[in-house]
Amino acid sequence: MTEFELEQEKKEIVRQYRRLLRHAKPFLQEGDAKIIKRAFNLSQEAHKNMRRRSGEPYIFHPLAVAQICVEEIGLGTTSIVSALLHDVVEDTEMEIEDIERHFGKKVAKIIDGLTKISDVFDHGSSQQAENFRKMLLTLSDDVRVILVKLADRLHNMRTLGSMPRHKQLRVSSETIYLYAPLAHRLGLYAIKSELEDLFLKYSEPIKYADIVDKINASKAPRDRFVRNFISPIQKELNKRRFKFTIKGRPKSIYSIWNKMTSQEISFEKVYDLFAIRIILDLPPEMEKPGCWQVYSVVTDYYQPNPDRLRDWVSTPKSNGYESLHTTVMSKTGTWVEVQIRTKRMDEIAEKGYAAHWKYKESEHTTESGLEAWIGRVREILEHDNVSAIEFVDDFKHSLFNEEIFVFTPKGELKKLPGNASALDFAFEIHSEIGARCIGAKVNQKLVPINYKLKTGDQVEILTSNKQKPNEGWLNFVVTSKGRTRIKDELKEQKKSAASDGKEIVLRKLKQAKLELNSENLDKLLNRFNLKSALDFYFLVGKGKIDPKEIKKIKNSVDKPKKQAKQRVSDVASFQKTIKEATGEKRDQLLIGEDMDIIPYSLAPCCHPIPGDDVFGFVSIHEGIKIHRISCPNATELLSKHGHRVMKAKWTSQSEVSFLTGLKIRGTDRVGMMNDVTNIISSELKVNMRSVSIESDNGIFDGSIQLYVHDTNHLEKLTKKLENIEGVEEVIRFDV
Ligand code: MN
Repeated sequence: MTEFELEQEKKEIVRQYRRLLRHAKPFLQEGDAKIIKRAFNLSQEAHKNMRRRSGEPYIFHPLAVAQICVEEIGLGTTSIVSALLHDVVEDTEMEIEDIERHFGKKVAKIIDGLTKISDVFDHGSSQQAENFRKMLLTLSDDVRVILVKLADRLHNMRTLGSMPRHKQLRVSSETIYLYAPLAHRLGLYAIKSELEDLFLKYSEPIKYADIVDKINASKAPRDRFVRNFISPIQKELNKRRFKFTIKGRPKSIYSIWNKMTSQEISFEKVYDLFAIRIILDLPPEMEKPGCWQVYSVVTDYYQPNPDRLRDWVSTPKSNGYESLHTTVMSKTGTWVEVQIRTKRMDEIAEKGYAAHWKYKESEHTTESGLEAWIGRVREILEHDNVSAIEFVDDFKHSLFNEEIFVFTPKGELKKLPGNASALDFAFEIHSEIGARCIGAKVNQKLVPINYKLKTGDQVEILTSNKQKPNEGWLNFVVTSKGRTRIKDELKEQKKSAASDGKEIVLRKLKQAKLELNSENLDKLLNRFNLKSALDFYFLVGKGKIDPKEIKKIKNSVDKPKKQAKQRVSDVASFQKTIKEATGEKRDQLLIGEDMDIIPYSLAPCCHPIPGDDVFGFVSIHEGIKIHRISCPNATELLSKHGHRVMKAKWTSQSEVSFLTGLKIRGTDRVGMMNDVTNIISSELKVNMRSVSIESDNGIFDGSIQLYVHDTNHLEKLTKKLENIEGVEEVIRFDV
């Protein structure tokens, strides 16, 4: 680099710094400018020998993040200082104590929070989820941590071009998965849609460029259309002496792409490429009547679609969004969305949370639902026992786009996510009411707990003390509050089933004159290929393990352990491990024999039993899984991850029984049921776990869960059952 270029760089840094100060000026109080200057100098000094991948001096990054905080989010001095110093502790010699000494506790705390949310993580591991969870934990400390983090992410996305391709993909998928929804939830619409557009730019570069071209190409006719459309409205509003601006805003590239892909249509067919926005300059007390007057003017000229009126002026969204939306028919026969709002509402819509603060002093502001939401996030976080991945999933559920407004019997308003069920409503009222909910009355009519609520519904919850949450509830409960409570309850239930199971185990061992010591417990866990005693007791308690199997450990001789179990990551390491342990050279897993050497288990999706055609699949976290070739997941595993598939074969040693199911259909007659159960229990000495038989107008329909040794055993049984008079078919099913 030449002397001259270095000189230019320095000038540019100063220019950017001045720009930051200029925009911050209206917010600054006495002494603030000095603090910002100190932070800038410190940051510049700390990063002085560092350059970004693009080649520019590192200081440009913290400066840009601080500018985003000021210009695009509307934050003040504390955030500016934190943004300038956000990478200092992580990337340089500086310690958090140094920051605290220079800038006080508040800034130190924010930077500490930002440092903990590391950017470096292993994709696909739960590390990513753990990071996100940490970030949300800081919500309860100071929401500015998240806002500065979003600014940081936005600048990194804007400068993603100089990164290698794999990093671009990782960073942008993380952005679309977590950061864009989070920005949306915090009401930062402008940042949210820029993040989404940038995601598309890096993940689907060709489609992105194509849409940009088409938007540009259609600009002239679109502008003409907008001019014609707004002209009568403008005249009328002027006549009524409104102060206003009107914009014809194109929709974001991402939302157009989304529409094209989800509805499988071409760009030309996306009709709502833009929305008309009317922004009014009104004093607080005139906001609501003013918006409705303008609505009245618009609909004097254009026919509104009655189904598309959205009034977030009377009832703001819980992220603070206020606006009046209507969709009207234009003179050229296309629908056009018109958004009516005031300057204040517009600023809140664009800048979100920070703009709220600014207007908070003005008495007219409605209390934002954001604080309530932050409170709820905190509540979920306090349930420390959920895993990070589970947590992020639940959290994603709560980052809803659409909300509905429903009412209690006394007329109190509740806001819920768009696809909330009656049960969600019950949990919203109180977690105990949710846990006991058996149904609801919606607008006086009785409905089941999974009933999907609509805006305007009035809901009364029916409860019973006998009710208990079950696994199925998770299929239709969408609020984090409800899901967390249900999961807690299920864990409790598991514990109690496990304690029942433990008693059964103790009894069976006693009958066999065995003790429950760690040696016998190990034998049992080994036999059923389980990791923990809790899992084992639970499966016994639930009847998924046949208690009669327990006694069998008495006669079983434990094979000498050749070496500690090893996790293998691919077929090659499997071969190596087998060779070391047994001296054999093979690439096939022997089910039943290799258990001491390599952990593997039977896949829960297809319940293989000995004799089934199977393959081994090297999973990332849980060792090798045995799937049936006919498993519904087999195609995907075989096609996408061929290198992790291995041959597997049953060995005939097994006296262990496996759970499977049979469906029996035929014409009913007296004694039918007796014949079926007789064959199963006495003739072939099979244990049944459950039998359910329905008879409807002479048709016999049975479903039996039973323990068998292998496919041979099952086939013999099937043949015998098929020979029963009246039985039409016997089919195996996965339990
Ligand atoms: Mn950064």
